[in-house]
Amino acid sequence: MTAPSAIAAARPRPALQAPPALATIPAWHSLLEERWQQRLNALTELALAYHDAAESCARPAAAADTARLEKLLRQATAARRALGETEDTLARLADGSFGRCEQCSESIPTAELLTEPETRYCGKCVAISWVTLAG
Ligand SMILES: [Zn+2]
Repeated sequence: MTAPSAIAAARPRPALQAPPALATIPAWHSLLEERWQQRLNALTELALAYHDAAESCARPAAAADTARLEKLLRQATAARRALGETEDTLARLADGSFGRCEQCSESIPTAELLTEPETRYCGKCVAISWVTLAG
């Protein structure tokens, strides 16, 4: 009879769930393409909602309609900016600068990139910029 501890020792260890390394470009490219598509869809929906709302407004527009249009416009502007950030990130991936801080050229930790792939700066440079802004 084999002791349970010997069985446990012989069992292969589960593979660690390592985040994709920067070298695995196809994984980053797929992730960014997916984010780009999601952001494009969000922008399209907001643009259509703005268009529909603008067409259904009474003339002259009531204050509530104006407020709703302004909110939709702000959301669409933010969605367009976010789409542009993902497009810029795809460009950095293509030119080899993805994952490098634009300020100091240090590597940005993979965990940060997984949370926000559009990140341009390392945590150290972000912290310095906050201190500078506050100071
Ligand atoms: Zn930096």
